[in-house]
Amino acid sequence: MSDRSTPRAPELAQAEPQDERLRSALLRLVTGGPEQQAIEAGEIDAIIDYSHNKVILFPGAQEATQHEATHESAHGRVANDLLAALTLAEYQQLTPSLEPVTLASDAVLLEPGEPIRFVYFPIDCVVSLLATPKGRRTVEVGLVGFEGMVGTSLALGVNVSSLRARVHVGGTAFRVPQVRFTELLRQSPTLRREIDLYIYAELTAARQTAVCSTFHLIEQRVASRLLMTSARVRSDRFYVTQESLAGVLGVRRESISQGAGGLQSRRLISYHRGNLRILNRRGLEAASCHCYHQLGLKR
Ligand SMILES: [Zn+2]
Repeated sequence: MSDRSTPRAPELAQAEPQDERLRSALLRLVTGGPEQQAIEAGEIDAIIDYSHNKVILFPGAQEATQHEATHESAHGRVANDLLAALTLAEYQQLTPSLEPVTLASDAVLLEPGEPIRFVYFPIDCVVSLLATPKGRRTVEVGLVGFEGMVGTSLALGVNVSSLRARVHVGGTAFRVPQVRFTELLRQSPTLRREIDLYIYAELTAARQTAVCSTFHLIEQRVASRLLMTSARVRSDRFYVTQESLAGVLGVRRESISQGAGGLQSRRLISYHRGNLRILNRRGLEAASCHCYHQLGLKR
């Protein structure tokens, strides 16, 4: 990743000036705020500095990327599976169009009936795809993390969203303008193939979601859902509110409270003010409806 001949967006800064910028970025954080708490818990590897269009890596992440650079090809492993599948030439074509963005929880990326202006390749955020039936609660029909992308209908020639895409767990992603993405699809057979396979996986997951929401108990569904989210944020700890869980599972907040409470009383998870931690993964898997097996990733 440190190969300077490869155009990257954003450019990774050299170590020394980066350390200085990291210090000044940390000083700007609110004392005791969620960002500072996440840093102290070791849950953050980098900060995006929009004023300089740079990613500022923490020392541990700097070491990791330097280590990777000595062992891997110039484009190395990128943080999104679809992008990682590209050839070096295709990746170099794409990199100038990849804009790093930080997405806050509950941010809406797509709305039904509205044009798709950007596609998103999540790195460590989780995005929920929601159907929005009139007069009813929203219900999740898909979940997107680093294994996929948001805005797949563009690949099918449809540039208006049929779904709401809302950030379920905040984090980072790359976004690409719609026009550029459409061009790249024409130019890159690898990207085309990977996205076709991903769309098939999305359809399969949507079918399984329908089965899950119809036949499985809320506590089982909450357990499955937490395992799926954990896999996508690559951590046993993440922040998710009861409202957000209720929104994606299409149930009342009280049902989430009941389901999560059951898991908590069995010491499978701890959950306080949105801060969730998986305490017993095997136990949580046993308590789930196992739909997370059919819904993509598992950790
Ligand atoms: Zn299920």
